[in-house]
Parts: sequence; structure tokens; C-alpha cells
Amino acid sequence: MAERIIEVEEQITVGALAEKLMLPVSKLIGELMKNGVLATVNERIDFDTAQILVGELGLDIELTKKKEVIDLVVREKRKANQKGENRPPVVAVMGHVDHGKTSLLDAIREADIAKGEAGGITQHISAYQISHKDRQITFLDTPGHEAFAALREHGALLTDLVIIVVAADDGVKPQTIEAIRFARKAGVKIIVAINKIDKEGANVPQLKQQLAEQDLLVEEWGGDTVVVEVSAKTKVGIPELLDMVLLVADVEELKADVNVPATGLIIEAHMEKGRGPVAICLIDEGTIKSGDYIVAGNTYAKIRNLESTTGKPLVEALPSTPVIITGFKLLPQFGDEFEIVKDEKTARSKAQTVGRQRKEDGSNQDIGSGELIRLINRSNQITEFPVIIKADVQGSLTSVIDSIKSLDNEEVVVRIVSSGIGSVNESDAHLAHTSGATVYGFNVELPTDIKRLVSRDKVSVRLYSIIYELIDDVSKELTKLLAPEIVEKETGKLTVKGIFKTSKTEVICGGEVKSGKLTAPSLAKITRGKEDLGEVEVTNLRRGPQDTKEVFEGEMCGMTVITSQRIDLQEDDTITFFTRESVARQL
Ligand code: GDP
Repeated sequence: MAERIIEVEEQITVGALAEKLMLPVSKLIGELMKNGVLATVNERIDFDTAQILVGELGLDIELTKKKEVIDLVVREKRKANQKGENRPPVVAVMGHVDHGKTSLLDAIREADIAKGEAGGITQHISAYQISHKDRQITFLDTPGHEAFAALREHGALLTDLVIIVVAADDGVKPQTIEAIRFARKAGVKIIVAINKIDKEGANVPQLKQQLAEQDLLVEEWGGDTVVVEVSAKTKVGIPELLDMVLLVADVEELKADVNVPATGLIIEAHMEKGRGPVAICLIDEGTIKSGDYIVAGNTYAKIRNLESTTGKPLVEALPSTPVIITGFKLLPQFGDEFEIVKDEKTARSKAQTVGRQRKEDGSNQDIGSGELIRLINRSNQITEFPVIIKADVQGSLTSVIDSIKSLDNEEVVVRIVSSGIGSVNESDAHLAHTSGATVYGFNVELPTDIKRLVSRDKVSVRLYSIIYELIDDVSKELTKLLAPEIVEKETGKLTVKGIFKTSKTEVICGGEVKSGKLTAPSLAKITRGKEDLGEVEVTNLRRGPQDTKEVFEGEMCGMTVITSQRIDLQEDDTITFFTRESVARQL
């Protein structure tokens, strides 16, 4: 039995490992070098290498692999789902901004519509299903990483496979790495889509090298990472990409029981004119039939319409399928789990129980008042940035809110005055006017009549279609609210050699510049030995009989010192000249 057992991640940086082993980094780097591995402190090594390293260093330490909670959830879930019928893979597309996620998702969907198999509705919703080679594939059409993270936060694991899109002309970028990390953490399979291969600057070999640096070794180099070269613009490679999705899904043997009461997750919810609350539900297992009773969080429905994501009426829907459901009494929440129950009574009572629980723990209050409570509990040093958030769908709204809330710190916080789905409307404009809030819209419009209203009332409305840009803007506003940092800089020092005239608030004295450069007017501090006597202002400097603007080290000078509190200046006191500036801080 080893003396100590240390948990390490599947991948760990040399620096982090050294910290865990309580050894200097140089020792680890040295040991790696002995083994022919040239590593820096930030280099990642895998678990096996770490284990060998510990052995070679002769440490009595046993390493164990750290298991992320999410991994366990995945595994248990996977195991449970290994029986039953085959089900389609659920695929998420991730990657750096502008690398073509949206274009790729659109290209895949359009190809399907062109085949005439998808019904033809192109309205944007958070998931769609296509058929390829007579098999189904479900794509989550989510606005980037935040949504994926938000889904995970809600304890859900929807995705079997992540397509990481990397632009061939831009290479691996921070969000690419983040996406790889997300996928690994969630234990889902990765397919890399090298996009924009039609572009002139495309450099596929270099990109493969960069992928290798992230431990995604392509097959031709002896690894097992599936890489497909595509162009969302010219549609080259899209069928091959879908082939690969199916192939990876086959290896995973994705199955789900169809004969149990259906469960799954609400991945979007919005109000629709004439239809009331509309929810997009992704089925995890079981079968949903039209007319079933469904409970989701604090609301329920006798399913009025059961439709495919292209609006086609369905009689029933199977696992891994996203469906549109209407008939809910209240709008369900993004991330709510749903289940099919046997009758209305059960549905109502389950929904009421959740409703009560949420009321008790405060999670059913709107976010605005939740934020307020948090504010009251904190010290009154906090500056608030009030905002109103509008988004196109519930999923985006949750993502935006989750992301901007993460910007809060001890000094400045975002206060969400109100939030909702749909265009910026009159009541948003009024509320913004009275509360001083800034309105942020994500993928929504500002109708012309409201535009007039907001410009009259000088309400700031900011519309974005890229989530990172919206977050960035909020972050900039918060930065502006941070109290500036006061920075004092010493410019020079003088030792007092003589006092010429003293009045209540003014001293005329002379002395020798010991260091730096003195300028006037300037702020200064008086010290006697170690004692601090206070702050003064020097209004003018004289070299001999002449007024001067500056004097240098080694020179003698005279000066007028203004003291607000009477300081009894004496010979040998030190006058330290300094500047005081307020510097904007970064969040
Ligand atoms: P996202 O931020 O990852 O969703 O990226 P978008 O799908 O919005 O694409 C960003 C930009 O790249 C847009 O101007 C697209 O037209 C362009 N784009 C996307 N895919 C391709 C491609 O395969 N080839 C070329 N030439 N441009 C592309």
C-alpha cells in the first residue's frame, strides 16, 4: 500500500502534477527529459505517463484517475440504455466562433430539405432530425458552448457525439480547445469537421498537427480521431461527415427502451401566437403518443399537438427524437425533465408538487427578484448594472442569463430587471426607462415603433446575434462600473534645509533634491524619520530667485507648500513628491 494516494485527471499539466506531488516543476521536467520527453510546465501529460514518472522518481505514491461526476452520470446512463431498440445519435456541433457551426448545421438541414424528406420548414428551433441513408440523426442546434454548458448544468446529458468544427484557414483556437475539453469531460465521442476547405488560406496538414497537440491524433497518423474535411459553403464532404456520424454511432451501439413511460428533457420553450406554450422535447427513452399526459417541472399537458421539428403531425415519437408539443398549462423551463404519466390527475399533482418545492426554495421566482435577494444579502458596496434580456427562444435566454451572471463579482453585479422571449416590446422600453436598465436582445428584433419610443426615452437597446459579443458588451459595461484603482507614483524626494516663512496654511521652505525630478504644482507627503506627517500641495518651485517648473536630483530649490492641516515643517523633514492617478480596472 502506497503512503499516499493522489487523484489526477486523465490529462494533467506538468505544473499541476508537480503541485500535487509537492515537488519542484524542474524535477519533473528533468525526469521527463531523461526519458526523452521535452515538456514545459504547461504541457499536458496523460495519466499513464504521470504514473511512470511517479515510479521513476521512486515516490511511494499511488495515482488514481479522477472521475468527474458527469462521467459517472454518463456511464450509468449509457449502461442502463444498452438494452432495447437502436436509437439515432444525438449530435451537438461546437467550435470556435466564426468557424462555421451555424453554416454547417444549416447545410446539413438544407441538404435534407432539398431531398424533400424534411417537410420544408426552416424556422429556427433548437434541434432537428434528418435522415441519411434511411437512418435518423438528431442535431442539437444550440447557440454555442453556453447552451451546452447550461444543459449540462441542468444535469442532463443529451449528446452522444460532438462535431467539433475547425476552420481550415484559422486553425485550433481557444474555443476549439474548450469544446474538446467539454466533450472529453462529458465522455462523448468527437468527430472533427475541418471546415472551409474551399478557402484559399486552408492549411489542413497544419491543422492536423494542431489537433495532435490536443491529443486528437488523426487516423492517417496512427490515431483514432475521425476527421472529415468539409465546406459548409460548397457542401463538399457533408455526406461523408454524416456517414462518419452513423459509423461512430454504430460503434457506440446506442440503444433505448421504447416500452417504458417516456422521459426526456425540455430543450426549448416559447409562446406562440394562437398555440400558447410550445415546448421542444428531446426523448431520452420510451415512446410519446399524441394525447398522452406529460409533466415537465411545474407544468403539465394533455398533448394537443405532437409534431416533428419540421411541423409534421406525429402519432408517436421514439427515443432521441426532438418533438414539438403543445397543450402545456404554463411555459415549461429549458432544462426541465419531462415524463409521461398515466392520467391527468397524476400529471397535475406531480406538477403542483414541483411548483410548491420551487416556491419554497425560491427557484421558481423570476430571475429578477432572485437577483435582488442576492443583492440585499450582500454588502452595500456593490454596484449594479441593471439589464433587461430578450431572446428568441428559451434555450438562448437561459444561456445568455447563465453567462452574464457568471460575470458578477464582489463589486459589480448584473441585475436582471426582467427577461423574456420575443422582440423588444413597449413594456420592455417602459421598464428600461423607469429602471435605468439597458436592454439586451439576442436574435430578436426592435420593431420600428419601439425604436421611436426608445430613442425618445433615451433607452439603450443593444441587439446581438453572437452570444460572445453580447457577453463581451456586458463585461465592458461592468468594467466601467468598477471603482477605478488609485495608483500613486513617486516622482522625486527632497530634504528640507531651511524654513523661511510659515503661516496658517502655507510654508515657504528650501531644500535639496535627493532623487528624481520635482515639478510644481504637485502633491507631496511630509515624513520625519519614519513618521508620516501628512499630505500637502506644492504650488511653486524656485531655483534661486527664479520661478521654475522643475528641478532635478542634486539641485537646491525653494518652494511654497500648502498644508490644509497645520504641519509644523522642520529642517531634515523629507518631502516626497508624487502623482495620483485613477486607472480603469479590468474585470
Ligand atoms: P459560427 O460562428 O461558428 O456559427 O460560424 P458561421 O456559420 O456564422 O460562419 C462564419 C462565417 O464563415 C460566415 O461568414 C460564413 O459564411 C463563413 N463560412 C462558414 N463555412 C464556410 C465554408 O465552408 N467556406 C467558406 N468560404 N466560408 C464559410
